[in-house]
Amino acid sequence: MKIVLIGIQGAGKSTQGNLLSRKLKIPYLSTGHIFRELAKEKTKFGRYVKEVMNAGYLIHGKKTLAVVAEYLKRPEYKDGYIMDGFPRTLSQAEFFKDGADKVIYLKVSDEEALRRLSFRNGESREDETPKAIARRIKLFHRVTEPVLDYYRKKGTLIEIDGEKLIKEINKEILHKINGS
Ligand code: AMP
Repeated sequence: MKIVLIGIQGAGKSTQGNLLSRKLKIPYLSTGHIFRELAKEKTKFGRYVKEVMNAGYLIHGKKTLAVVAEYLKRPEYKDGYIMDGFPRTLSQAEFFKDGADKVIYLKVSDEEALRRLSFRNGESREDETPKAIARRIKLFHRVTEPVLDYYRKKGTLIEIDGEKLIKEINKEILHKINGS
């Protein structure tokens, strides 16, 4: 099964993605994680990724598509994946046509996401500055919300209240995935 997780930063995508991965035995894949690894490379592209990520902007469209396409060629993703962080724009979603059987939207308010991220302080990442977080949230509303509409129209969107307890959210996702 090809599952896509969508939600603002702090919505719990990686927590839920990893839980689902273990339960369903489907590999978890995060474009944010891939880009954080690429950002460590001392190449022109590595430096570009680091700069864009730390500022809270999105990596250029074509570059993102190339990176994702390259990863999905790997044999471990042949039978499915749990994708966190992609697609994030309408053009990425259109490119990803047959890439999502179920799309899970973890709905969390901006206030709740910011509250959670402020608790992550000790373990926060280099790209989690208040300015970058604010920009990412703004971008989510502007460019990722149309992606939700796209999947809503397709009938593949599953909306989940992401403000409940981790266990409850996991249960609800599993229930909705099997039931719909
Ligand atoms: P995340 O961990 O999903 O918040 O991603 C961290 C950063 O990686 C984002 O702020 C972007 O700079 C980059 N990134 C991740 N996924 C994408 C994507 N689908 N399109 C463009 N940039 C992305």
